[in-house]
Amino acid sequence: MYEELPNGFTGMPRRGRATTGNPWAPTPRSAQANVSSGASSAAHKMPNDNPWGSSGWSANASAGMAQGSFALSYAREVDPETEDGPRSFDPDKLRMIPAADRRWAWSEIDLSAIRYNTQTLKARLRPGVAMMAVVKADGYGHGAVRCAKTALNAGADYLGVATVEEAIALREGLVNAPILVLSEPPISAIPLLLGYKVMPSIYSVEFAIQYGEAADAFSMKAPYHLAVNTGMNRIGVAHDHVVEFLRQIDFHRALELRGTFTHFATADAVQSLDFERQQHRFEAALAAMRMAGFNPGIVHAANSAAIIRFPQVHYDMVRLGIALYGLQPADITRSMVELRPAMSVKARITDTRFLPMSEGVSYGLAYRSPGSVKICTVPIGYADGLRRGLSGRTDFIVSGQRMHQVGAICMDQCMFEVDMRTYGTRRRIDPQVGDEVIIVGREGQSIVTLDDMARTLDTITHEIAIGFGCSRMTRLFV
Ligand SMILES: *Cc1c(COP(=O)(O)O)cnc(C)c1O
Repeated sequence: MYEELPNGFTGMPRRGRATTGNPWAPTPRSAQANVSSGASSAAHKMPNDNPWGSSGWSANASAGMAQGSFALSYAREVDPETEDGPRSFDPDKLRMIPAADRRWAWSEIDLSAIRYNTQTLKARLRPGVAMMAVVKADGYGHGAVRCAKTALNAGADYLGVATVEEAIALREGLVNAPILVLSEPPISAIPLLLGYKVMPSIYSVEFAIQYGEAADAFSMKAPYHLAVNTGMNRIGVAHDHVVEFLRQIDFHRALELRGTFTHFATADAVQSLDFERQQHRFEAALAAMRMAGFNPGIVHAANSAAIIRFPQVHYDMVRLGIALYGLQPADITRSMVELRPAMSVKARITDTRFLPMSEGVSYGLAYRSPGSVKICTVPIGYADGLRRGLSGRTDFIVSGQRMHQVGAICMDQCMFEVDMRTYGTRRRIDPQVGDEVIIVGREGQSIVTLDDMARTLDTITHEIAIGFGCSRMTRLFV
């Protein structure tokens, strides 16, 4: 069908075969010219000079390879008897070209690191305390389904997501564990919750009643977790109104309170007064619930920072987010637990050049060549999560050595410099097109982390991980 489009890819006259009635064949006029010039049938007599295949339509892939036309292995099979029809690409074969061979930039997720982090943090919990793996935003950019399965296999019990869509993606990825949406979805999404067996967080009476009604209509229970606002002031029932809230919805027979939770605003902060105030408010709300005869179900509050720093708030379950992916939730936790970062980012060099002194590089030409450098280009830019604010402020690793990224980071590409001078005992490196470059990760003694980038940009690692992991870059699991 694409052949019909006026897109520039019109057919070539094909030499070495019968032509009558074939729209891809030479026109009668050129055939005429061949005859009269006496050079008539060069093509007919020398079929082997056709670089697109030597023996008519039956040329197989290996013959094509032998001649350098590796693309022939992606051709549709052609009936050798009739040798009929134009050769064309087979979409199924084209699909077999791996993503990292289509574009030389990708992220790699080490699932053994996810397993290690889950086990390491699970080991810090009292026996019987459950663990929720938070896999929102596609597992912080690491791939929600694969990370969820790995975490569940390594000891996690529950999954947390931000949206109903994220929960559905897990169910469609054949994840069977309990899933909690960490906020209250729109009422219009209730059928999805029940259809995919996904629990909402609840903090409005209207949602609770509609959810209960919908479940009742299908003779189902309507399990949920109650979100309590203890000071983050983002979502939840006010900590001193919890009993009142529950009394408003308690009449509904389908509603089932499975858990009660709050979220800390300052678990990663050095100062802990605000943290303690939230803890006390939460515990007072729980006590009031129990006094009024409500069973709070699974009680949970701790995010990664609190899991590591404050065992006194582990309660019945903890919610493991950033640390699951091997990233430290705060500077203070660095010395408290050893984690393994699961994400690395890699690329291959697509072009290189030597520049004379003072030639500029990239938009604005802000960087000027000192004259002794090779400039290498990699196909990764800010549309891939390599934030433009890192321009000239991050290093790449080639053959175990750090190289300075130079010039403005573009949307799809950026450059780095390789010092070509020889001095001291330094190993001189001369990178070539196709060589691998580490944007985030470790090789030998050299390491560049998401943490480094977050610090440079004055933000948190969550944002940097998601920038790379939720971009158009392909993701490889290793
Ligand atoms: C995202 C989130 C978490 C996980 O937080 P981390 O700091 O990444 O561990 C826990 N609880 C709630 C409610 C969240 O939204």
